[in-house]
Amino acid sequence: MQETLFIIKPDGVERGLAGEVLRRIERRGFKLTRIKMLQASKEILAKHYEDLLEKPFYHQIETYMLEGPIIVGTFTGSDAVKTWRKTMGVTNPAEAELGSIRADFAQGPDENGDMRNMVHGSDSVEAAKREIEIWFGE
Ligand code: ADP
Ligand code: MG
Repeated sequence: MQETLFIIKPDGVERGLAGEVLRRIERRGFKLTRIKMLQASKEILAKHYEDLLEKPFYHQIETYMLEGPIIVGTFTGSDAVKTWRKTMGVTNPAEAELGSIRADFAQGPDENGDMRNMVHGSDSVEAAKREIEIWFGE
């Protein structure tokens, strides 16, 4: 059993695709354990994306993630971390595997490299623990 953290990014909420994402999580046999909707802040995003702070595209991430409310949650299940990453598809929607959430729904990248890839998933068990503490810790 593992627990992972997912985020439905602003475009997913705005386009009315939150239910679709939750349906895919549940249909896969995972059990939702926490969920909340909120407006992110620069401060919490800097913690969540601390490994990317120095990247030239960090401002694009920030602008994107602050565009509107997001849904943050966790779920448990067998091999949850890796299975959710596969269910999402790779980072760039244009390269995401057929049938993955990012291939089916995400948008971009455009000529500026802007992409809206709709969902987040922790990339390791350690990252999941760290991110759950950031979003749900006391
Ligand atoms: P993932 O979300 O697949 O784990 P990363 O951790 O590498 O991908 O990046 C975090 C997020 O930052 C991505 O989901 C995407 O929203 C954004 N991002 C990553 N790389 C770029 C890029 N080259 N240009 C613009 N945004 C990016
Ligand atoms: Mg990542």
